[in-house]
Amino acid sequence: MTDKKTILEHVLKDEITQILSYSTMRQIKEVVQTENIRAYIIGGYVRDLILQRHSNDLDIVVEGNGIEIAQKAARKLGVQVNVFKNFGTAMFKTPDIEVEFVGARKESYRKESRKPIVENGSLEEDQNRRDFTINALAISLNKENLGSIIDPFDGISDLEQKLIRTPLNPDVTFSDDPLRMIRAIRFAAQLNFTIVDETFEAIERNAERIFIVSKERVCEELNKIILSENPSTGFHLLEKSGLLKLIFPQLSLLKGVESKNGKKHKDNFEHTLQVLDNIALKSNNLWLRWAALLHDIAKPATKKFDENTGWTFHGHEFIGSKMVFEIFKQLKLPLNEKMKYVQKLVLLHLRPIVLAQDEVTDSAVRRLLFDAGDDIDDLMMLCDADITSKNRNTVAKYLNNFQLVRTKLKEIEEKDAIRNFQPPVSGEIIMETYGIGPGREVGLIKNAIKEAILDGIIKNNYDEAYEFMQKEAEKLGIVKK
Ligand code: ATP
Ligand code: MG
Repeated sequence: MTDKKTILEHVLKDEITQILSYSTMRQIKEVVQTENIRAYIIGGYVRDLILQRHSNDLDIVVEGNGIEIAQKAARKLGVQVNVFKNFGTAMFKTPDIEVEFVGARKESYRKESRKPIVENGSLEEDQNRRDFTINALAISLNKENLGSIIDPFDGISDLEQKLIRTPLNPDVTFSDDPLRMIRAIRFAAQLNFTIVDETFEAIERNAERIFIVSKERVCEELNKIILSENPSTGFHLLEKSGLLKLIFPQLSLLKGVESKNGKKHKDNFEHTLQVLDNIALKSNNLWLRWAALLHDIAKPATKKFDENTGWTFHGHEFIGSKMVFEIFKQLKLPLNEKMKYVQKLVLLHLRPIVLAQDEVTDSAVRRLLFDAGDDIDDLMMLCDADITSKNRNTVAKYLNNFQLVRTKLKEIEEKDAIRNFQPPVSGEIIMETYGIGPGREVGLIKNAIKEAILDGIIKNNYDEAYEFMQKEAEKLGIVKK
């Protein structure tokens, strides 16, 4: 044992003593000891305790009936318990923590499924089926060794050295449950750890087995990678391991640089990941991060080479926003307003840049405000993140121009309130005034009013819009009833 490790274990002892003194833990411990059964705190909670990360959920593994112990502890604590008979688990919540109980299990796997055959087992057997050494640590709740750490795979050293390693032969661990491959990468990204070579090579060898895992589970891990501090770390590992092209081929197609007549385009994979890291510094909004990941997704599909202008990606924002649906569907992401938000940001991501390059006219700003609505601030954040030039002057110039656009956006919004645009003269008013039913004319007049407001021909108020309506109706030959 290294000196460093002794010191760590000493510090840990105090922390563990403290945890065991919390009222929830005291009651659980009492039940365990009265029932004379063996039980342990296990997995993520122990890992996070050592890493000094906050965790709200705690898993307890019981050598015996986990459900019974959960029920008895819940009764003592006066809380409701939820039992999941099929899984052999039970959980309850106290004001400070969510506790899940499970019987220790031994698992054996079949080739075609990640669902194991489960038998009752010992703590040791339960630790053997855990995914990584750092996730297999246990703290005893038993009288004879209360508070001691049971660490059969030297997970504490791996925590200290920031290493991800499987407890058993990695080929077996990953082949049994291929989701663990993405979990390895997720923990590397989340904790800023390194996957040891032997483990990483096994991911490369077993990548194809990811197909037996449900899309939902893959996507859950993908979202955790996206929400980590340095998402690019995770995506680089996914790419390098060969997993990315299997689970998210559109993204892996962004990789690479092509050169023609001495002209190169940038590597859109690297660029995208930098944009994602940039946005991660500013926002924890998962969907804004998805928009960053997808903003250039149609670049491979729209790439062209022109002798004069070099590489172009015309319309990639438009095609990209169309691709969002198929990607969300394929990854089992929700096909709801979150998807629409991502589509909108992908579609609009070039608009502020175009605006900043030209003269910033009121009318262009009004149109951008109208199209982006309440998502305008997120769109501007995405555009800031999208500037990844290595040339500091270029970056400074763009950021400065965006600042001008922002000032103008604020000015116009204060003046014209376009952000939550509601037509000042509604379809009902038009129909009532002219005694006509719903139809093409109503739409034409409504649209003309909207356009006139966005172009600054009239102000965004009832009187000016009403007057404008009258002129439009006259042009269409519609007379008042
Ligand atoms: P987090 O809660 O931050 O996602 P965690 O490590 O607690 O991280 P959970 O999914 O909550 O992850 O799982 C709890 C524990 O169960 C893990 O620490 C690990 O020991 C074990 N575990 C979870 N999923 C697997 C798996 N697919 N294969 C093996 N062990 C697993
Ligand atoms: Mg957990």
